Amino acid sequence: MNPLSTAWWKLFQRLVLVLLGAFLLGWWTGHSLLMLLIAVSGCLVWELWRLYRLDRWLRDDNKEAGPPRFGWVWEDIAFEIDRVRRQNRKRKRKYGRLLERFQHATAALPDAAVILDEEDKVVWCNGASQQLLGLTLGRDAGLPVANLLRDPGFVAFLAQRRPTDSVDFSSPVANDQTLSARIVPYGKKQRLLLATDISQVRRLEQMRRDFIANVSHELRTPLTVVTGYLETMLDSEHPSLDGWRQPLRGMQQQARRMLHIIEDLLMLARLESRKDRAPGKPVPVPTVLADIADDAIALSGEQNHRVDLRAQAALWLLGCEKELRSAFSNLVFNAVRYTPAGGRIEIRWFADDRGVHLEVEDNGEGIAPSHIPRLSERFYRVNRDRSRGSGGTGLGLSIVKHVLNNHRGQLRIESELGKGSLFSCDFPEELKVEPPILSTGVSSQCDSDIAPPLKNSNTR
Ligand code: ADP
Repeated sequence: MNPLSTAWWKLFQRLVLVLLGAFLLGWWTGHSLLMLLIAVSGCLVWELWRLYRLDRWLRDDNKEAGPPRFGWVWEDIAFEIDRVRRQNRKRKRKYGRLLERFQHATAALPDAAVILDEEDKVVWCNGASQQLLGLTLGRDAGLPVANLLRDPGFVAFLAQRRPTDSVDFSSPVANDQTLSARIVPYGKKQRLLLATDISQVRRLEQMRRDFIANVSHELRTPLTVVTGYLETMLDSEHPSLDGWRQPLRGMQQQARRMLHIIEDLLMLARLESRKDRAPGKPVPVPTVLADIADDAIALSGEQNHRVDLRAQAALWLLGCEKELRSAFSNLVFNAVRYTPAGGRIEIRWFADDRGVHLEVEDNGEGIAPSHIPRLSERFYRVNRDRSRGSGGTGLGLSIVKHVLNNHRGQLRIESELGKGSLFSCDFPEELKVEPPILSTGVSSQCDSDIAPPLKNSNTR
């Protein structure tokens, strides 16, 4: 039996004894009812007095003092309350210390941390939020974060609610500071905004880009001169050069390869530097693809690939023609280079409810699944010698990826070893444009909505 039930039992026994005593006294004096009434009232007054003392003790500010002796039941209740109170105080102290440690840790964090409620209002922010985002807890708590950080890129990112993404934007405190922000779900319906200063990383990236662009630029002129001289020497009929023709041709081939790499590196540098971006213009993609298909047939030459182009004639794309031409030709020329002689290459250009798409499919050598995620890295090749032998630089798919990034597009690669590959470029629907009314260039080339195969090397 626990102490409280023992106390209740004792109290019950005492009550029975008092009432029995009162009843016997009343019976003896002939006033049993009166005696019982006096006894019940006495008990009630006594219990009320103990209850009053318990209440006084509960309200007492001296928290450390233990409960006074109240007698059965009330005393046990008081001890139970006191135990729970001490436990709570201990827990409060522990959480207080934890909170203090957490606050110290977040204050020492170099990154801004802001807790947002379900309406994206600021609930709490750490010290670094002031230096990076200009937020102060005392002033900004309860205000919508979109009113405090007004960068359009950030506001759009806030609305899209994708925890895996991040957004880069200029700090509202210092314009030359670039921040990268992520928002992750936190607690019940809250979100945690984390912002890091990535200015240094961006500066280093810019330095690397500038270095590559400068080196490429500096190398291009001497290499052009070398290839020019080599060409002149190879064209010359002078008998003294007769024994040198073979090595000269080898030198010319290597110099051209170097020039090709330099051109690709410069192209990548241009693609990466946003300030050089040409504004989007309607690009006649079907015409561009028709040119590329022609070039692919020329590249195929004796290998006699079959190149089919199926393009929606009235489907143009808003973007940069030079970049798109470069990306699409990289995909088509790769298909020619990595498909054995006589193979089939199909180029498809169409729009559906998911956007606008270019697909380049071949029935060539295919790519093993382990290579696919790394193909768009610079200088990544499945087979280095094979790539070099076919005039590859290892930069083609990297250029494709950058061009697609600049057009908010995505590159998808599906391939099966020995069966062939499918490279798809997906563009958002907003970039879809119709040809200007005055332009007849495309309709004269593709007179149906989906043009029949335009190019077929076998038929040329
Ligand atoms: P490269 O100049 O070497 O072709 P890319 O970046 O264009 O460089 O391509 C990277 C690698 O991807 C190539 O080396 C090749 O192994 C593989 N690849 C690209 N396109 C195809 C394709 N259509 N079929 C098979 N492999 C391909």
